[in-house]
Amino acid sequence: MVVPIVIYGSPVLRKHSIEVSEEDNLLNYSEKLSDTLKKAEGIGLAGPQIGILKRIFVIDTSPLCENDNTSEKYERVFINPIILDRHKEVGIFAEGCLSLPGIYEDVTRPDKVLVRYQDMAFNTIEEELDGIKARIFQHEYDHLQGILFIDRLSPLKKILVKNKLRELKNRYME
Ligand code: ZN
Repeated sequence: MVVPIVIYGSPVLRKHSIEVSEEDNLLNYSEKLSDTLKKAEGIGLAGPQIGILKRIFVIDTSPLCENDNTSEKYERVFINPIILDRHKEVGIFAEGCLSLPGIYEDVTRPDKVLVRYQDMAFNTIEEELDGIKARIFQHEYDHLQGILFIDRLSPLKKILVKNKLRELKNRYME
C-alpha cells in the first residue's frame, strides 16, 4: 500500500522511534514502506517518513542497478537495527532523502559498519555492510533517532541549503 511521504517541516521527522514488538502489525509496516519506496523510486525509507514512529526501515538498491549493472541488488527489511561497530575510515557521498526533495549534498560517514537487526520472523542477524549498503543503512538508522542528513553537513554547506530548507518548511506550513 502506497502512503504519503512525510516532508521536512513535519515534527514527526524529529521524533525518536520506539522498538518494534511482536504484537505490532509488522506486515502492514513493511508493505507500506516497501510499496511507498518503490513508487517513489528511492533506495531507502524509514518508519518516521511515513508517520510510523517504530524502529523499522527498508533498503532496496534496485533503482541503482537499472543504469549500472555492476551494482548489486540488495533488498531488505530491517527491524530494531543497531550499529555495533563503525569502521575508522570514512567516505564522502552525495546523499538525498525522500523527505527532503531537491536537496543533494555530500555527507561524510564511516565506509563500513557492523550491524545487528531482526528480520520479518524476528530472527536476529549480524552483518558487516560496506559501500552503498553501509551508506543507506546509516542514513535510515539516523531517521529512527530523528536525525536528518542535513544535520551532518559542514557549517558552510548548511548555510548553502538554508533557503531550500525554508522553502520546504513553508510548503509544509501552507
Ligand atoms: Zn532519508
